[in-house]
Amino acid sequence: MTERLYYTDPFLQSFEARVLEIRSLPAGTAVVLDRSAFYPTSGGQPFDTGWIGCPRVGLERPNVRVINVEEDESTGEVLHYVEDASKLNSGEVCECAIDAERRADHRQQHSGQHVLSAAFEQLCNFATVSFHMGDESCTIDLATNAVTPAQIVAVEKLSNQVIYEDRPVTIRFATPDEARTMGVRKIPAAEREKLRLIDIENFDLNACGGTHVRSTGQIGSILIRKTEKVRQGVRVEFVCGMRAVATARRDFTTLTDAAAVFSTHIYELPQQARKLLDEVKAAQKIQSKLLEEVAELQAAQFLQSATALPSGARLLVHYFADRDLAFIKMLAQKIVRAGQSIALLSCGGSQPSLVFAQSQGLPHDMGALMKQTLQALGTRGGGNKDLAQGGAPDAERAERAVMEAAASLA
Ligand SMILES: [Zn+2]
Repeated sequence: MTERLYYTDPFLQSFEARVLEIRSLPAGTAVVLDRSAFYPTSGGQPFDTGWIGCPRVGLERPNVRVINVEEDESTGEVLHYVEDASKLNSGEVCECAIDAERRADHRQQHSGQHVLSAAFEQLCNFATVSFHMGDESCTIDLATNAVTPAQIVAVEKLSNQVIYEDRPVTIRFATPDEARTMGVRKIPAAEREKLRLIDIENFDLNACGGTHVRSTGQIGSILIRKTEKVRQGVRVEFVCGMRAVATARRDFTTLTDAAAVFSTHIYELPQQARKLLDEVKAAQKIQSKLLEEVAELQAAQFLQSATALPSGARLLVHYFADRDLAFIKMLAQKIVRAGQSIALLSCGGSQPSLVFAQSQGLPHDMGALMKQTLQALGTRGGGNKDLAQGGAPDAERAERAVMEAAASLA
């Protein structure tokens, strides 16, 4: 069982420890020490990284980099996964150091989570069912169906108030029976002789093995990002400390960039974006009306210049470089509605396409003709006897395909 130095001193950055064993495991090479300040992934908090200094090299680089830390729950050992253990020997005493910046960030996020969870419980009576600390942001899942924007604002305000008050955060130990009489927020289900409790003075008392700040002021700040419905309740995303500052900075840069696009102030952005969207929708409406009129006129014009097939039907073949599928389909339908007509149309643009259509009662099969054409093109599509559509690999082949289809009808 590894002596956990972070249990009583979460600020300890360097320490001496004896190498008990170097173990080859499926996940890599793990070093077991008699004592360790390295935090192994657990309780939602990720592992520490750092270095184990070989006695002959000390902590001067190059030394042995710790890249992952896990705990073996059955033995209580902390497993320090290293990149290369060749410089280490069992029995030697080594100088070890954890990555202090990473640890400081984890202290801020994890202590911030305790404050936030307690605030949700006190103000809304929502229990926290799980916690996850990611590389960018953290989440807690609350046992509730919904969290209102007003609740978010109130909880965020209370949390930051508790930070501002700089309340002492202390580590206490108690038996589960003692803990039950102390008003501990959440007692773990697993049987343990002693529970480690994190006490935020006159605000929260919770069982936790994580690394925490000395006083709430060290959390810096808490910024709630978003909420989303998940299976077990509502997930709340948040950032604390320097992450909150970095996130606010990134948000502000994004908003400033967007505001520059609209030549407006960031607070006017939603209004400007909505206005532009309304304008786009109105323009689209006008455009589709105009295109309908163009199609109407073009259909009439085409019908006058159509060639007659031996069957007596009028055949119209045309390729449109700048129109889309919706337009050629509309045009084809207008043409065949005039009766006794066949329209073989194609378009280029971003999605080269084909439309074959015939007036009801004509003897040809547009679906079969399309199928045959698409087989040659190697693209997809389909339709029925009177109307069929499909894609073309490029504009040039879309243009050629209608000519070839027309030739097969003549
Ligand atoms: Zn915790």
